[in-house]
Amino acid sequence: MTVLEKLNSIKNQEITAKENVENYIKVIEEKNDDINSFLEINKEEALAKAEDIDARIKAGEEVGALAGLVFGIKANINVEDFIISAASKTLEDYIGSYDATVIKRIKAEDGIIIGINNMDEFAAGSSCETSYYGPVNNPAAPGRIPGGSSGGSAAAVAAEMCDIAIGSDTGGSIRNPSSHCGVLGFKPTYGAVSRQGLLDLSMSLDQIGPMANDITGITLALDTIVGYDRTECTTLKWEAPNFTEVALSIEGEKPLEGMKIATVKEFREVTDDTINEKIDEAIAKLEALGAEVVELEFGYIDICLPTYYLINYVEFFSATRKYDGRKYGSRIEEVCGDEVLRRIKMGSYISQKEFSGKYYQKALESRSLIRQEINKMLEGVDLIVGPTVPKLPHEIGAELDTMEMYAYDVLTVIANLAGIPAASIKAGEVDGIPVGLQLQAKPQDDAKIIKAMAAFEKA
Ligand code: GLN
Repeated sequence: MTVLEKLNSIKNQEITAKENVENYIKVIEEKNDDINSFLEINKEEALAKAEDIDARIKAGEEVGALAGLVFGIKANINVEDFIISAASKTLEDYIGSYDATVIKRIKAEDGIIIGINNMDEFAAGSSCETSYYGPVNNPAAPGRIPGGSSGGSAAAVAAEMCDIAIGSDTGGSIRNPSSHCGVLGFKPTYGAVSRQGLLDLSMSLDQIGPMANDITGITLALDTIVGYDRTECTTLKWEAPNFTEVALSIEGEKPLEGMKIATVKEFREVTDDTINEKIDEAIAKLEALGAEVVELEFGYIDICLPTYYLINYVEFFSATRKYDGRKYGSRIEEVCGDEVLRRIKMGSYISQKEFSGKYYQKALESRSLIRQEINKMLEGVDLIVGPTVPKLPHEIGAELDTMEMYAYDVLTVIANLAGIPAASIKAGEVDGIPVGLQLQAKPQDDAKIIKAMAAFEKA
């Protein structure tokens, strides 16, 4: 049953919202010791909310567009009365005192928040091994990392612990774990979704987005959370299309007729052969669905990671100055893990006046080059497609050096640097391990990605 079909059966009283919540509580109780996806759940409140929704449906009253669907929320998005720790000891006692804009919108549409998902500390990671609460296990490839930083969210969806998970993506954190866990993940255009209430990793790159097991889970969430927010100055004033209608409009043998998609030579060159094989099969499938396929070149692949990490370090350093141990939590430098400390130290160093022109200014300049190049490539095509992650997830606990860890992100940081929408959908498996197909489009062309994902899923 798709998420939309479930929503309709709740509204038609074929199943109750309460049953939906109870099922998920059962799965969480069975599997969470092994997966470590949920850091906290609130059964009583979720059940009470479900009963209220069921009562309103029975009485013939209007209910919201997400009535009875169950959500997991990444531990860096404020939800009232849950511990919002960003998986850091720094904030282990910080209780969300308000709902982020996305949470307000989900609650207003009768979505049910079941609990809070594990992640890399402050979203700074690609493996979910840096959480203060221990690593997350990949349900689709047990013993391996689920990817990061929204690894708890992807694992929750893959293990069927909720209908939809809401994560954040600064350099791939929605798409990377979606790829490794074999689920769908969507990072909207920068500014499409309000970041109000998100604990910043790198504010010029961060975007909130959904993960689910089918396209309607993605679109129902997007239809609720996309939109202008007067409390958040980077949100776009944009009449977004109805994404669920776009997904449902897929018809006929060749639904992608008229769509031009590009593969990129350099994306393939940095990717493992076994993954490229699955991606080629996926692209052949898109072609069979009517898309025209061309190949493009991208000259800046080598500067993507240095550009991304320099900007990330500086913005993260600035964002963490409030964790000085006075307002909330413990002083971050005293309790955080190695990766967070590295970013604070590097960010502090680069931010010193004498270095600002030397590194940060250069990073901003190369960001402009990358953005211009990608936008130029997208002028002639509707989508750029390719692998989401260039290598398979490692076994939990394997020793990787910093550069090896950062190398997971080379194909995902581009969309954040350029502010464009990007998503991942399962392309296939290599030795039983899922690999994701990434789709990227021009700013505000999010619907084109949805259309291709829906067609791909249907095929
Ligand atoms: N892995 C990248 C990083 O460590 C991306 C993280 C993210 O998107 N939040 O910064």
